[in-house]
Formats: sequence, C-alpha cells, structure tokens
Amino acid sequence: MRQLDINGIKAAVKDSLAQLGTNIDPKVEQAILQAQKEETTELARDILTTLLDNYYIGRRDCLPICQDTGTAVFMVELGEDICFQDGSLTDALQEAVREVWQEQYYRNSILRDPLFDRTNTKDNTPAIIHTELVKGDKLTIKIALKGGGAENMSALKMLKPSDGKQGIREFVLETIIKAGGNPCPPVIVGIGVGGNFETCAILAKKALFREFGSPHPATEWAELEAELLQAINETGVGPQGLGGRTTALSVQIETAPCHLASLPVAVNLNCHAHRHCKISF
Ligand code: SF4
Repeated sequence: MRQLDINGIKAAVKDSLAQLGTNIDPKVEQAILQAQKEETTELARDILTTLLDNYYIGRRDCLPICQDTGTAVFMVELGEDICFQDGSLTDALQEAVREVWQEQYYRNSILRDPLFDRTNTKDNTPAIIHTELVKGDKLTIKIALKGGGAENMSALKMLKPSDGKQGIREFVLETIIKAGGNPCPPVIVGIGVGGNFETCAILAKKALFREFGSPHPATEWAELEAELLQAINETGVGPQGLGGRTTALSVQIETAPCHLASLPVAVNLNCHAHRHCKISF
C-alpha cells in the first residue's frame, strides 16, 4: 500500500482553489482572443474584449474573475492501493473549501436546504465530491468552481434509440437556444451520451473536466463534437446572448455503454469562466 499524507493533499487542493478563482485557463483565454478576431459585429467583439480585460484584471489584482465563485466540484480518481495518513480525504477536501472561501473572500453560495431552509452554510460547503476507484496507487483530483447560471441551463433527456445522432443534435441545439444568454456564453458544452439516467449526467460533467478543447479519442465522436460546435455557433446566440458567431468555445462528449432500449443524453453547460484544474499524487 502507498501511504499519502492528508495534510500535503489538503495544502495542494487549497492552493489550486485559490488560483482557480482568479485565473482563467490560458487555453480558454486564447480561444476567446481568437474568437474576438473572428467576430463580425462590433457588439460581440466588445463583449469578448471586456471578458479578456476582466481576466487580465483578475490575474493582476488577485480578484475573482466572476462574483459567482461557484460550487466546488471534485472528481477524484482514487487508486485502490492508497491509504491516507492523518485524516480522511473527504474531510480534507471539505476543509480546504471552507478555509479557502474564507481566506480569499470568495462568495458563499451554498444553502442548507434547496426548498425549506434556504439559509447560507456560510463557508460554501458541502462541496460536491465524485469518487471513482481505479487500479494502482495514484490519486488524481480534478477540481472545478462551477457557476450556478450555467448549471441551471443544463438538461437531460432520455431519447429513444431510433432518435439517433439527429435526436442528439436537436436536443443539444434546443438546450443552447433555450439557454440564450443565461449561462454567460461563450460556453463550454459538456455532453454525456449513454449509461443510465444518473451516470449520463455525471458523464456530461466529466466531459467538462476533460482538458479544454481536447477531442474525444474515437474519430466518430470527435467528428460529432466538431459538427455540434459548428451548429451551435451558427445559432447566432453569441457572446452573452446578444448575437454573434461565438456561442460555444468547445464541445466535449463522454460516452458509456447503455441499455438497448435507451439513448440517454445530458448537456452540462459551463460559462466562459471555465475554472478547472487537475492535481496528481
Ligand atoms: S454563469 Fe459563469 S460567468 Fe455567469 S455569473 Fe455564473 S459563474 Fe459567472
């Protein structure tokens, strides 16, 4: 068994959380810069320029790039041959969130109960933690600060197998058009296809955790990603929903085997404030 010190893990997670709120993924920034050069209307170009200025100021002054510093979401790949010294991983992740939100003055966005007790937990916990057991003695923690506006416009549909590729395309476009400016476009579109009702939603989230802009390893799925990106950008929703050709920066699909009677599809949207990173031990 490999032993990992929980205090070192917590310190690394805290450091990543502190960086994520104020620094945009350089690949996303590059994609927005490119989109700004290619936009055809002045309004769309101005919006993208404002986003770039905002990233610059956030980086320079160590300020959050958005007032919604989000829900902390962790995707943990936990090697079966690891044991933790000096505490539990779950506690370490929750404590890291609690401490960083206070130290960085991030906005506390988590409520105790969705309906009857909408009082704030005042430390942004509980964070959402997805854990997958994997073979070996490595630990990978993928981290995201997920904004509520984009999450709200996400959707899931249990298609019929006969709906096929066209059905997926129609559902994705319907979701994007219905979302309009609410998810703060340009968006990153995570799509889950397959599994069952609950795994499909997690697949869509997992797709957002993939390296920004990286294509699906299978050619037919990578081609569908490219086709959907083009179709989404032809909708004209544009930056902040005010028109233009830059509605999405990337479409990323994750797939899983499914029941012969099903074709589940989930669309998880992320805004331009794409705050994701990965740490490994
Ligand atoms: S959707 Fe994203 S950019 Fe818009 S308010 Fe929420 S976190 Fe900020």
